[in-house]
Amino acid sequence: MTQAQATSLFDLRGRTALITGSTRGIGLALAQGLAESGASVILNSRQTAAVDAAVAQLQALGLNAQGAAFDVADQASVEAAFAGFDRAGLVIDILINNAGIQHRQPMLDVSLDDWNRVINTNLTAAFLVGRAAARRMIDQGTGGKIINIGSLTSEAARATVAPYTVAKGGIKMLSKAMAAEWAQHNIQANSIGPGYILTDMNEALVNNPSFDAWVKSSNPAQRWGRPDELVGTAIYLASGASNYVNGQIIYVDGGWLSVL
Ligand code: NDP
Repeated sequence: MTQAQATSLFDLRGRTALITGSTRGIGLALAQGLAESGASVILNSRQTAAVDAAVAQLQALGLNAQGAAFDVADQASVEAAFAGFDRAGLVIDILINNAGIQHRQPMLDVSLDDWNRVINTNLTAAFLVGRAAARRMIDQGTGGKIINIGSLTSEAARATVAPYTVAKGGIKMLSKAMAAEWAQHNIQANSIGPGYILTDMNEALVNNPSFDAWVKSSNPAQRWGRPDELVGTAIYLASGASNYVNGQIIYVDGGWLSVL
């Protein structure tokens, strides 16, 4: 391999990436990172105003960004969004299934509605959006990259987050199922499992002194992670550098799972 070939391994120029749940937190950081690597990014959430604001934020940095507000957990909303991409001639080369919600409650008290809401948003949505993207990648013969955002709970259960844990465990297997069926079409589907990351989702936990102390004392890195610390792994899994990596999960957790 030449130096030029080595450098271009991570080049995302000419690629279009859809990052779900990318108006803030991890999704916005991943969108910015992919755009800084040359991709044209499509930002998403359920809120049009938040999508517009995030698009403007990346455009102000000189990055190539546009928005698509839709609910990833609603099949009709997903299909309408992809019909819009088709009409606009947008081909999704890279999909990051990142949108997610948390729900903290002892399992004995979790209602069926809350169970379904968490499973639908964190797991079923990745199937819906992943399938819509893969159909186009296969029809166009272009192949592509799918990154499903899991969690530490893809590997280890914790109390009071049962539906989230089950959904994130499912995300790990969803990537493997996608790899098993779509590798023949040159689609690579992998998962990233973040540790505890400083985002709005964890605001209450960060502000809870005993939880904050527990994170810092139990993680070998002795600190929370930042959204930008997931960017390198996402670029790797979105790029030609990972063309023979399929169905894997990479934990980005400061070493936490090594000691759990
Ligand atoms: P945030 O709560 O900060 O952001 C979540 C994003 O998802 C927002 O843009 C939100 O926008 C969007 N979203 C939520 N529901 C939907 C929906 N139905 N359709 C479209 N967009 C939606 O979360 P994080 O950045 O912390 O988390 C991102 C991902 O990383 C999630 O999958 C999460 O489970 C995972 N993760 C996070 C960790 C952490 O410590 N923060 C650790 C491990 C995994 P809106 O609500 O306006 O629609």
